[in-house]
Parts: sequence; structure tokens; C-alpha cells
Amino acid sequence: MPEVRIAYFSMEIALQSAMPTYSGGLGVLAGDMLRSAADLGLPMVAVTLVHRKGYFRQRLDAAGNQSEEDAAWQPEALLEAVEPQVGVAIEGRAVRIRAWRYTVKGIAGREVPVYLLDTAVAGNSVWDQALTDHLYGGDDHYRLCQEAILGIGGVRLLQALGMNAIRSYHMNEGHSALLALGLLEQRMQGRELTIAAAADVEAVRERCIFTTHTPVPAGHDQFPSALARQVLGDAAADALEATHCCANNVLNMTYLALRFSRYVNGVAMHHGELSQDMYPNYPVRAITNGVHAVTWVAPALAALYDRHIPEWRRDNQYLRYAIGIPLAEIAEAHRLAKAELLEPVRQATGAPLDPRVLTLGFARRAAGYKRADLVFSNLERLQWIARRAGPLQMIFAGKAHPQDEPGKDMIRRVFAAAEKLRGTIAVAYVPDYDLRWGGLITGGVDLWLNTPHRPYEASGTSGMKAALNGVPSLSVPDGWWYEGHFEGVTGWDIGHEELSEDPEAEADSLYDKLELLVLPMFYTRHDAYVELMRSTIALNASFFNTQRMLLQYALNAYFPDVPRGQFIPAAPAAP
Ligand SMILES: *Cc1c(COP(=O)(O)O)cnc(C)c1O
Repeated sequence: MPEVRIAYFSMEIALQSAMPTYSGGLGVLAGDMLRSAADLGLPMVAVTLVHRKGYFRQRLDAAGNQSEEDAAWQPEALLEAVEPQVGVAIEGRAVRIRAWRYTVKGIAGREVPVYLLDTAVAGNSVWDQALTDHLYGGDDHYRLCQEAILGIGGVRLLQALGMNAIRSYHMNEGHSALLALGLLEQRMQGRELTIAAAADVEAVRERCIFTTHTPVPAGHDQFPSALARQVLGDAAADALEATHCCANNVLNMTYLALRFSRYVNGVAMHHGELSQDMYPNYPVRAITNGVHAVTWVAPALAALYDRHIPEWRRDNQYLRYAIGIPLAEIAEAHRLAKAELLEPVRQATGAPLDPRVLTLGFARRAAGYKRADLVFSNLERLQWIARRAGPLQMIFAGKAHPQDEPGKDMIRRVFAAAEKLRGTIAVAYVPDYDLRWGGLITGGVDLWLNTPHRPYEASGTSGMKAALNGVPSLSVPDGWWYEGHFEGVTGWDIGHEELSEDPEAEADSLYDKLELLVLPMFYTRHDAYVELMRSTIALNASFFNTQRMLLQYALNAYFPDVPRGQFIPAAPAAP
């Protein structure tokens, strides 16, 4: 094993469909990041929790009422057990932590190990054993305990594994910010945390990087300071207070992460600006998210790229030259990807989908701000458009967090609209959205719909997956779309800047674009539509990938001080 230089901490990581250790975009991004790190041979290691009961399995009844079941899985069957155990004091109890290793393999055989922390260890109390069961489950108390295990336990595990050359600890969102406490402890070598001097804090800061994904203050992960004192103990609580991470009797994980990081970034250029305004006391940069190209390309499109630009797998920037692929071949590859999608959706939902009909896709967490139902604001107009400008059909998917009642209501509203549209516009809602459905839906629809309430979408990545498959977006300007949008070239904008607080005007704009631009092009100038699909690949797939993103992290965050020629200390290939 070469010396590990970067440790990436994330509460959720989407490693594979059989491991329900993620809830949405944050985890998918983490998984894609590690897949690209392995491709590039970056000397990286990752830490997360095992989440034995998974996120959850979603069931939907005929009215769209969601119910949840545990998605228990067997770490023992899929992962390697790791030797050293470590302990973390929680409420004064010594909680034992073991770890499992999952190995992400890159295209050239290089590897990135992922350690999944697990408290289901004999000797721990029944309550402590369940601490690594549920992703985003339980109350504040449960979650703070989980964050202590991830942050403090993770740092201790890497030390126990002998990883002593780590230059950068990367916090993916504030959930892992307690790793700063773990590093401070290491630095103090047994001395009281409360006597840590400014130089000690600075030494920890020198080692940490923080990526924030939260575009509004209400999204901050935070806990009452009294709870922090109860869970973490007096010494840690005093240290957090001494370093000004608790203001107004609240431990704010974002502030903790900011306070202890030498480099801070948002996840799209616009989100970087918003974050800078939220945290004026810290310099905030931006590195725009991406997706792992090889993972998210439909087989038919991958075969097409292999024929014309075989370098694309190793170096995603070659996707730019998709601009030279004959239109007929793009159309044929997309026809195959669409067929691969429609059949399983028909089987899962019974919706009468027609391969000749313009198909809109909308798959993402059913969170209120994502506004899955904006397209149903005016059903009469939607039906009128379908009659006049050409037929359309829609595919939805997405889980609402078990405690998110507005999210669950939104799913019901989509079902209610589907019922009213029955016979004129087919609407399928695929249950139990996961990595596999994500790939099928972004791979095979004709148009990707994105209607978040601004500015809540820090980046968004599903539209990037669509672009990789030549699927243009119809999107409100938010997140990555500020950068990905070229009107009539990579898709279409909904509304404009001034419309942010007016859903009715946004819906009108959405309908105008469908009626006047999208549908006429799709049905009467189909070559122009395919040309737009092709420019979507060339302009957006070549940029919005995690390979480019990770190279930017290397240049700007991980190794800014290393000469260009050798900025990636490469890991050797596995034997
Ligand atoms: C890509 C993906 C997401 C993230 O999509 P957003 O558009 O960023 O919300 C969430 N869940 C799954 C399963 C995905 O594949």
C-alpha cells in the first residue's frame, strides 16, 4: 500500500446498488469521487459508516402513499473485516468500533480503500450497537453520536491502521466535522484539549479541507451545546467553546468545519458565491461537481463513444470530440438506451409508455424544494400542449425522507396528477429509486426536467448524468445549470433571474418552452433535436465529470504547493 495522502470523510457513500449506504446526491457524489480517484491513482482513503439497516426501501400504494422498510444488508458478505478496533467515548461510555473494507478499483487497477465503521460489536450496549444502523435516522441525539463515531472514530482508525502521512482530511459536508476534534486530540498527545493553543488549532487547520453543500443557513447541521456536552464530554465541549464553534448555545457543524479548514469550497461556481456571502469571515472557493462518466453512461452510448473516441474512458475530456459523431449514430444509440429504460418502467409501474413519444425524466430525492409537481401546476394547459404540439409522457422516481411529510405530500400530488392525466399523458412513478434506476432513467429519457426552488439546489448532478447520455435539460437557473446552460445548445432555461419567487410564472415559462421550442423541434425537426443532444455531450459531458472535478481538487485543494509535473503522487497498480 503506497502512502495515503488524502482521507475523505462522508456520512454517506454510494458504492454499489447492493449496499444501501446512501440517501441521495451527496452519497452518489462521494462514490463517484472515489471511483475517479481510483481511475487517476490518487493516494486516497475514505471513511463512512456501515449503515447496517440501510437508508430504507420505499413502497408506494396506488395513491402514492409512501411506506418504509429497513433495507438491511450483510456487510459480512460483501466486505473485508479489518483488524484494529478503536474506541470513542460517548456520554462517558467507551464505545468500541470495528471497520469493514470495501475496495474501489480504477480502470488501470489502482485502488481506493473505503472503511465503513461499525459499532455492532459484542460488549457495546444494545443502544450503542445500533448507532451505525440508520443513515439520517433517529433524533439529534442519535445523529450527534453517529457524527462522533464518524469524525473522531474515523481519525483514530486511520491512525491505528498506520496511515501517518495523510496531508489532507477532506470533510464532505459538515457531518464529518468532528474529525477536527480527533486531529486536535492527536496533536495534543494526551494533554487536555482545553489548553490547545492557537498554534495547535492552526496545525489542525493546515490539514483539513471542507466542502459545503448547503446553500441556505436553515440547512446547517447543528446541535444544542448541552447535547454536545452530554455526548462528547466536558473536555471536548470546552475545547469547542474555546475555539468559538458554539455560538448562541448551538454547536454548528458548518462553523466547526469552517473554523478548522485551510481550504473551503462550494460545489458549483454560483453556490461558491452564495456560500461566500453566508460566511464572509472565511475565503470560500468553488469546485463544480461532476459524475463518474464510465458509471453513468448507458451501454449503447458507451459503445458509441468506444467506436469514435476510445480515449474517453481514460480521459473524459475526449468527450468533447463527440461533436464529430454522425447524428444517425447518436439517434440510434439513444433509441437503444430509451428501449432499455421503457421496458423495465412498464414492468414496474404498468404505465403505457410509447417509445415514439417525447419522454421527460424527473428522478431525485422527493424533497419539497425540488418541486417534482411544478410541471403539473396547470393540467389543462399541459393537456392542451400535448394535443397541439405533440404527445409527451413522463417518468418520475424519488424517495422522501421518512420524517419529511411535505416530501411525502409531493409524491401524492404527482400520483394525483398522473390519475387526472390518465389517457392523455402517461406518467410513471418508479418506486424505490436507487443507483440502478438513476442510471436507466438519466440514460434513456429525451429531456431532463429540473425545477428546484432557487437557490436550494447547490449543484445537482442528475442533469449531468443525463448530459453524459446526450439528454438535454429543461431547467430553472440554479446550481450547476448556471454553467451548463447554453440556450438551444445544451437544453433550455425555465424563466429567468427575476422569476425566483413566482412559481406560477416559472410554470408558464416551462410550458412555453415545451410548447414553442421543445416539442416542435422533437417532432418536426428531429435532426435538430439530435444535433442538440450531440452538443450536450460535447459541451457538458466533457466537463461535468468527477475526473475533471478531482483534478481541480488536486490542483487547488489537496496539493496546491506541489510542482505541476508531479502534483499527483501516484499509487502503484495493484499486483
Ligand atoms: C444522481 C443521483 C442523485 C442526485 O440527483 P440530484 O439531481 O443531484 O438530486 C440522487 N439519487 C440517486 C440514486 C442518483 O443516482
